[in-house]
Amino acid sequence: MVHPNCHRKVIILSAPSGAGKSTVIKHLLQEFPQLEFSISATSRAPRGNEQHGVEYYFFDTETFRQKIQEDAFIEYEEVYAGSYYGTLKSELERIWAKGNTIIFDIDVKGGVNLKRLFADQALAIFIKVPSIAELRQRLIKRGTDSLEAIDRRISKAEEELTYETAFDHTLINDDLEAALRQAETLIKDFIKK
Ligand code: 5GP
Repeated sequence: MVHPNCHRKVIILSAPSGAGKSTVIKHLLQEFPQLEFSISATSRAPRGNEQHGVEYYFFDTETFRQKIQEDAFIEYEEVYAGSYYGTLKSELERIWAKGNTIIFDIDVKGGVNLKRLFADQALAIFIKVPSIAELRQRLIKRGTDSLEAIDRRISKAEEELTYETAFDHTLINDDLEAALRQAETLIKDFIKK
């Protein structure tokens, strides 16, 4: 018998920072029990209450580099200078083995790479704020970054916006409720295919 979930589907969510990506992912994980979050590996230090094996697999830089050598990653990026992030091949197998669909929270370049790899197996969603001015306002309001850090994030976001066309759909996170409804519709259509 063919396993009903043998399609090994993946959902990719990428966004310039401040676009509300993690809120959307959290909501989708609550709405769709068949989705499972891909826990990435990172060489950055845990923040706050983050735990190894929950938000990330935390590796030191040397271990991360060793895993790169071993070809353990399906993709990885140095998202911020000195901080590596990557998706372990073993993580994909872990989730697919349960018959679940994988959901990725991944930077824009990683998202483009995964879409290229998974093609029709993947639903790639790009989330963006209505404008760069709005993004700046949100980052200021969030209050977690210095002005220099905000400027860095803004220039990164401007560059990332140029990759939007590599994604299947764009969600403009202007009105959060509307964005969540749109995301739900896209996912419903994709998982029933
Ligand atoms: P943070 O340090 O704030 O948790 O994440 C920083 C950025 O790294 C976010 O944009 C997040 O989507 C991205 N990221 C997390 N995991 C991965 C991964 O496995 N690969 C890539 N390329 N980016 C990732």
